[in-house]
Amino acid sequence: MKVGLLACAFGRHSVDVANKRKAGGMHVGKCVCCKTPMEEIEPNVWDVLQVKDAGLGRRYFG
Ligand SMILES: [Zn+2]
Repeated sequence: MKVGLLACAFGRHSVDVANKRKAGGMHVGKCVCCKTPMEEIEPNVWDVLQVKDAGLGRRYFG
């Protein structure tokens, strides 16, 4: 089985740091396993990228 995807299920994504790029003053990248967008909140500390277009989201979650 794929250990990487199991880690993703627990929120422990593996960012493809080789392909990270700069956007909006911070680094963003994608998980090599599940392609989840990630952002570097601190040096070497990555978190799932927060989707900013809340206008659409509120309709579904509001
Ligand atoms: Zn992942």
